Amino acid sequence: MEDCLFCKIIAGQIPGDKVYENEFIYAFRDIDPQAPTHVLIVPKEHMQDMMDPRAPQAIAHMTEAAQAIVRSENLEQAGFRAVLNTGVDGGQSVPHLHMHLLGGRSLQWPPG
Ligand code: AMP
Repeated sequence: MEDCLFCKIIAGQIPGDKVYENEFIYAFRDIDPQAPTHVLIVPKEHMQDMMDPRAPQAIAHMTEAAQAIVRSENLEQAGFRAVLNTGVDGGQSVPHLHMHLLGGRSLQWPPG
């Protein structure tokens, strides 16, 4: 999509600190990290959020990517958090489906 920030990062039009890529997924470090590891896992195909009919398949690819990144970031033993913020109440600020992968510190619950 022309005006989508994450589509521009995927296309290389805006710099992104890439940590993982395959046919379906692009993953890069969040510009405002909330934990020592904070990676955004994004489907290359543009869709707004997890309510898109294509999202279940995309989320399967995102989970596969998350497993690889968890291993490469050495988060498996201590644990981590994977989050899909959705819509206004969910705190989503970029309308392109993405998974936050957070780890490297003890995370609080419930979220604010
Ligand atoms: P959300 O609020 O769930 O939509 O998450 C969007 C995330 O994108 C936020 O955590 C932002 O810090 C992050 N973000 C915004 N712009 C960029 C960028 N240019 N590169 C990397 N992450 C970004």
